[in-house]
Amino acid sequence: MIRFKDLLDVVYENNPNADLELLEEVYRFAEDLHKGQVRKSGEAYIIHPLSVALILAELGMDEKAVAAGLLHDVAEDTRCKQNCLENNFGEEVTFLVNGVTKLSKLECSSKEERQLESYRKMFLSMAEDVRVVMIKLADRLHNMRTLKYQSPEKQKSIAQETLEIYAPIANRLGISKVKWELEDLCLRYLEPEKFYELVERISMKRDEREEYIQEIIDRLHQELDKVGIQADISGRPKHFYSIYNKMKKQNKDLDELYDLIAVRLLVDSVKDCYAALGIVHTLWRPIPMRFKDYIAMPKPNMYQSLHTTVIGPNGDPFEIQIRTYEMHHTAEYGIAAHWIYKESGGSEISKDSTQLSWLEQIKEMQNEARDNKDFLNSVKIDLFSDTVFVFSPKGEVYELPAGSGPLDFAYKVHSGVGNSCVGAKVNKKIVPLNYQLKNGDIVEILTSKQAKPSLDWVNQCKTSQARNKIRQWFKKEGREENLQRGRTLLETELHKRDIDLSVLNKPETLVELAQRMGYSSWDDVCVGLGNGTLTAMQVANKLQDEYQRTHPVTDNSVEAMLASKANKDIHRRNSGSGKSSDGVVVEGFEGVPIRFAHCCKPLPGDAIIGYITRGRGVTVHHLDCPNIKGMREREPQRFVPAYWDQDDAGVYQVEVFVIAIDRPKITPEVMALINDSKVHITSITSRVKEGKTYMHISIEVHNLDQVILMIDKIKSISDVLEVKRTIED
Ligand code: MN
Repeated sequence: MIRFKDLLDVVYENNPNADLELLEEVYRFAEDLHKGQVRKSGEAYIIHPLSVALILAELGMDEKAVAAGLLHDVAEDTRCKQNCLENNFGEEVTFLVNGVTKLSKLECSSKEERQLESYRKMFLSMAEDVRVVMIKLADRLHNMRTLKYQSPEKQKSIAQETLEIYAPIANRLGISKVKWELEDLCLRYLEPEKFYELVERISMKRDEREEYIQEIIDRLHQELDKVGIQADISGRPKHFYSIYNKMKKQNKDLDELYDLIAVRLLVDSVKDCYAALGIVHTLWRPIPMRFKDYIAMPKPNMYQSLHTTVIGPNGDPFEIQIRTYEMHHTAEYGIAAHWIYKESGGSEISKDSTQLSWLEQIKEMQNEARDNKDFLNSVKIDLFSDTVFVFSPKGEVYELPAGSGPLDFAYKVHSGVGNSCVGAKVNKKIVPLNYQLKNGDIVEILTSKQAKPSLDWVNQCKTSQARNKIRQWFKKEGREENLQRGRTLLETELHKRDIDLSVLNKPETLVELAQRMGYSSWDDVCVGLGNGTLTAMQVANKLQDEYQRTHPVTDNSVEAMLASKANKDIHRRNSGSGKSSDGVVVEGFEGVPIRFAHCCKPLPGDAIIGYITRGRGVTVHHLDCPNIKGMREREPQRFVPAYWDQDDAGVYQVEVFVIAIDRPKITPEVMALINDSKVHITSITSRVKEGKTYMHISIEVHNLDQVILMIDKIKSISDVLEVKRTIED
């Protein structure tokens, strides 16, 4: 049972000058407000904020943050009026409590949106005052520790969210203590069977392994003593989630993983780190490429250490981590290790240790991002991925997210270098622009004054910084080109949706629409589309909304058709059946022109549905066509039942997609088989990639059965891996 006194002890130990009276007042206040409230576990509610506060204190946070931890759930309480916190406990504590409360209040419709929004808010408050996020992390940690009292569905969803948002944030702030505990707890609730199996299997091997590790530790002490290096050496089992992850990623069984244990050496100085490394490497043979010097090149979350993997005395490889005591403290506590208590009583993150320039970057990204999703992607890629360090020919170091290429490097150096890039050399050899940079590469960018960026570079670049700079160039320089490209993109999208732009093409409508989207003219909207600031989907949605607003259900074409449907209904009742020359009967629309949707190309036998277009008759879609999903929700009145005319003998186009192992004559063999079945091939494309052949084949058939038969036959050819009918979206 946790007591308030325990909390005071920890706070006092961190900082004897801490304002303990403030904490006592805060505690009494919180206890009073939570009186009578009970958690799902049956405990008094105050246990939760008290535990959160204790976690914060144990992380070494100042008393203001600890106080805010005690208060983090009171703002919800109606008895706690607007100014009461500020009057009682001051501005700083109130700011922190409000920050945490704001983070918890997310009003978004979909789960994805909510997640994006919570990420965004989290990062922004992190940039403002990182303590807000620390409190949120402590809150989540305690909720995870007490998760067993929640319903199974809640357990899963909370654990999932924790794994996706909170653990990565803890990692980014370098607080590996919290990150590990969160991840292991998540695994326990998300994959309980795997988790418990892992726990059991690892504990079974423990004895044998501990003996082995002890042997290694003894040997190390012996050798280090000879040169007078004092070291703390321990064998530490890796935490479950990282083992689970490794098994999953490398598709290996537990027995095949060799680095279940890391031996950790803590020494006094950086000099001793390297000296100890030398001794390790003379004792046991290092495995090439496994040595990492995070002392010279710290991780963005400030982590510093030497890592190496060596072949141990019995032939089994194991990992050794070597670092100073101070580095070790940072490794566990991250940003919290860099809290400084000032004489005046306040506290701050020490400036010299702020490897945390990324906090500043967040603000920049916020300004440049198009929407939540875009922002999140930038953050994820630029801040969360592993990094590679590369060099300019002059020896300057550049840090880039793993997976970056020469263009990312070029734009990181200077946008002028990026914009005039024509090629790149890595380690003096020419490489393609999609080359992935590796640690230690020396990168040289070849430039030309006549060169211009290309729009596909946007997709080739990993960093949002490079992508934004390319987009900026196109915004400025490529206006005319973008205008044309934007118009074409929009036309294609509208065509898919059967919307005729000319109906809306009154200048004042479009200008008004453009202004509502924050542009001054319709051309600007098209330019935005062309340079990738807007997507065709976004613009088409706006146009469609506008169309529906200005052409409500009184739309002539629908009315006319609905009227004709009423007539036909009477007619049909009299005459019996409705027939259609197109092979399809659309209920009540006999005689109305029918087209088959080019996106899904329905075939006789497929489940189908009719869509009343604006002025172009009825389009027949496959019932599962992805393109009509949204439309069916937006305008159900336009959809009418349709079915196939039994006696039809028409010919239909269908596309079949084949994946096969690449071998000589595989494509001709597939073609011959189709031909032998008297099925006409109208087009075929075939492409080889990474040992596989991918074929797109258009054939003409009379009905669905024929296609199913054809697919079965192609599947029976040896080396064919997959055959399916394709529907474009
Ligand atoms: Mn809470």
